[in-house]
Amino acid sequence: MAMGAFKSLMDSAKALKDMNDAHVRHGAVIELQEKIFAAQATQTALLEQVGELEKEVADFEAWEADKQRYEMSTTKGGSIVYRLKPGVQPAEPTHDICATCYQRRRKSILQPMQTNAVTSTLAKPNRVRCFECKAELVA
Ligand SMILES: [Zn+2]
Repeated sequence: MAMGAFKSLMDSAKALKDMNDAHVRHGAVIELQEKIFAAQATQTALLEQVGELEKEVADFEAWEADKQRYEMSTTKGGSIVYRLKPGVQPAEPTHDICATCYQRRRKSILQPMQTNAVTSTLAKPNRVRCFECKAELVA
């Protein structure tokens, strides 16, 4: 598409030198300028698209490396999570990330849910929450 646009610009520029009529020539100059602006806009859009794709590739590669640090695991309460493998470097405190978000290529650390003073005396099972997809799991 880009090559076709540039060939069209070159053809228009070549045609200019054979034009003797000032009005026709002026119209052709305007038309050529419009084509140049359109080509510049196309190039700018393509460069933005390349930038976005480069960022996507970088995010993809970062996730592919990061996900290797986790393994599928089951909590005491039977929930499926991805748990930080023991001994990975750089070391981090042991934590679980959301299995649903993991499948969506997102890392979301599961956090304990707030329990208020009244219900906490009933010894309910500990629950954790994913703040990304709002899942609540039994820890
Ligand atoms: Zn989640």
